Amino acid sequence: MTIDRNELASRLTALTRDLILIPTTDSRPAERERCLEFIQNHIEGLEEVSIQSYESNGYRSLVAGPQSPSSPDILMCGHIDVIEHPDPDSYHSTIRDGRIYGPGAGDMKGADAVMLELFRTLHAKHPGLSLGLALTSDEERGGADGVRFLIEEVGLRAGIVIVPDGGSLNEITIEEKGVLHLRVRRHGHSAHGARPWLGTNALQLLLERVTALQSYFSVNWPIETDAGQGHWYPTCSLTIVETPNHSPNRIPSEAAATLDIRFPPPHTFGSMLDDIAKILGPDCHLEPLMTAQPCHLDPDPLFCEITESITGSPARLIRAAGASDSRFFRQAGIPVNLSRPLVGNLHGEDEWLDIESMVTYYQICQAYIEQKLSLT
Ligand SMILES: [Zn+2]
Repeated sequence: MTIDRNELASRLTALTRDLILIPTTDSRPAERERCLEFIQNHIEGLEEVSIQSYESNGYRSLVAGPQSPSSPDILMCGHIDVIEHPDPDSYHSTIRDGRIYGPGAGDMKGADAVMLELFRTLHAKHPGLSLGLALTSDEERGGADGVRFLIEEVGLRAGIVIVPDGGSLNEITIEEKGVLHLRVRRHGHSAHGARPWLGTNALQLLLERVTALQSYFSVNWPIETDAGQGHWYPTCSLTIVETPNHSPNRIPSEAAATLDIRFPPPHTFGSMLDDIAKILGPDCHLEPLMTAQPCHLDPDPLFCEITESITGSPARLIRAAGASDSRFFRQAGIPVNLSRPLVGNLHGEDEWLDIESMVTYYQICQAYIEQKLSLT
């Protein structure tokens, strides 16, 4: 099928911009519902396609596919949620220099538009096609009520999954680091700020241990400023420090710090937690908030070949510091093709998506699906 690139570009651009206009943030469940309704309208009425809706703890997901959509040969998977921006009016887009700028343009409403159009077009052309689509609404907060729920509790399976939420047009992710979001608490004893000898300063003692932990990381795994090595070593970022104390003249009796720790194999969540507990010492109470093991994605060589032939340049297999919903598919043994259009400034106010690359990505996925399912 020859695709008119210009027509496809304008269709995908319009759909992406419509999706960006719906502020599907964590604090706005009604907008997330509205977005899923909009999506459902877009793919309704296709022959031999069923659409199921699932909900877990207020987070809804849509799964569409052939009559029994629980295990299509190829599943396309995305999320509709976007991160919260301080300015509630920032959820719209502009077009400049061949790019769509706007919150969620790159992560991942442009990719959602590609999957919706592909799903519609291919099912209209080949009724009964073994191609599924899963869209969740909680990826930015960890995916427990989205992809994890669909895999572990609904029993969703697939031959292979296309997840356009990592890598780049010519960069296919083969490995992702593991994640440990850890809250560390320290208790002490409050006293007047003028008489520190009467108290035990929980905040100060906590920060001493956290500083010791950070030097443990920087001595063992110094941060490389150039990404030549792919930053393939453990990192520890201090992201939140809290104390219930609001008085400048009171020594706090409680304090908590939150750390975002990332690690490649052979480290595991268990081995990292053991190391960290030793450095922080027995007086710190550790509470893991979110954990994920590092994982290998096992992409299909055919997807890499098609990427190369359509873009005319080599596909690089890369390792990623960030994690995606892919890990839940891997836990069920399902291989993942993780790449996407050209995007930038993700989660920033000027997040963008390159329109031409969105069309190219569409063509890559279409060719892959057609060859894999022997439609050509
Ligand atoms: Zn994402």
